[in-house]
Amino acid sequence: MNKSDIKRGASCRDDFDPASILPERALAQIFAAIQPVAETESVSLRSALGRVLARDIRAGINVPSGRNSAMDGYAINAAALPAGGTAILGLVGASFAGQPFPGRLGPGECVRIMTGALMPAGADSVIMQEEAETTAGGIRIGAGVKPGDNVREAGEDLARGDRVLAKGARLAPADLGVLASVGLAEVEVSRNIKVAFFSTGDELRSVGEPLADGLIYDSNRYTLYGMLARLGVEIIDLGIVRDDPALLDRAFLRAGDEADIVITSGGVSVGEADYVKETLRARGEVAFWKVAMKPGRPLTFGRLGRACFFGLPGNPVSVMVTFYQFVQPAIRKMLGETGAPTITLKAPCASRLKKRPGRIEYQRGILSRDKHGRLAAHKTGAQDSGILSSMAAANCFIVLPLENDGVEPGDMVDVQLFHGLV
Ligand code: AMP
Ligand code: MG
Repeated sequence: MNKSDIKRGASCRDDFDPASILPERALAQIFAAIQPVAETESVSLRSALGRVLARDIRAGINVPSGRNSAMDGYAINAAALPAGGTAILGLVGASFAGQPFPGRLGPGECVRIMTGALMPAGADSVIMQEEAETTAGGIRIGAGVKPGDNVREAGEDLARGDRVLAKGARLAPADLGVLASVGLAEVEVSRNIKVAFFSTGDELRSVGEPLADGLIYDSNRYTLYGMLARLGVEIIDLGIVRDDPALLDRAFLRAGDEADIVITSGGVSVGEADYVKETLRARGEVAFWKVAMKPGRPLTFGRLGRACFFGLPGNPVSVMVTFYQFVQPAIRKMLGETGAPTITLKAPCASRLKKRPGRIEYQRGILSRDKHGRLAAHKTGAQDSGILSSMAAANCFIVLPLENDGVEPGDMVDVQLFHGLV
């Protein structure tokens, strides 16, 4: 570890552990160790949802393909209208979406037109149906229509040759629609990656099994499953491995062989049954094993064969915090995803938060509006790293920086939201 990781001397009031590295340095080491996958595959549009584009996409056509109406109304030639008062135009036909008016608009004429229908030759604007009146002699229209009113130009959404989407974009619903709008049925995406994971601990049982005294259900494999499934990776669930060095060794070998990323939970602290770091040291390389953060301090990162290895702590909240702060960015980078950094907001905190300097804390919060409509964050209750219900109740992390020594109600805090529209 580099001495410069410690920005100031330790004091008796803080929680800095000199063996820990700062989270930003941990992330930099992780990024330095990860190369985006080089292989790509072509997938149909629907299966491309959530995949990462392997190259830029350019529009092969104009969208929309032709000049068309943005309203239901009458296509007219604005220049032919009088400067003031009203005009009565002869109705000479209709243009429907997909069935254009075949003729040309002459002076004093108009054409009934529907939204999305091609503009007839000779027309330059559309008057809304609500602003026109049908009379015996034709359609009465007020003055004040400007050329281009209520008309969509060809290519005004995307012009032929425009870059539609950039390499590295994770395809969201709008992207699928945009790709469809330029007529693409397939796109090239980065190959998917395989992520293997297992839980470690003699006390763990899988759901569905009976629990004897002192045993607990393995919840980490479910939160991990959920977080990985959201990222769209191929999941290899290797179950529960007992705190037995020989069994761990076997699981490491198998996981390192099958996956691009291996994730374990538990067995990374300094207890007598914590063998994960030693097994990694024997079979691969340990890059770091302690991070100045809470929860999640005993986080082991390194290499296992061709795979990247994350030894997450056992405590269920620590698993989620370390996953979101480190594993998720690593997976995104490996898939070639660019952009989409986590957005951090500032909001006043409504709760008093206890904290000691020396480590970054990710407290579980709820960001909501108070009765005056103002955003405020408050904590979800007890913040122990074993209290997974604090995560389930939360919609954000309240991120407290290294030097912070507590928050009073009304103080501004950094908030990372869990959800967004995508
Ligand atoms: P460890 O890091 O193995 O010492 O585990 C720390 C704490 O997390 C202990 O209380 C474990 O029982 C608990 N824990 C470890 N793995 C899991 C798991 N898969 N599901 C739920 N709790 C776990
Ligand atoms: Mg354990």
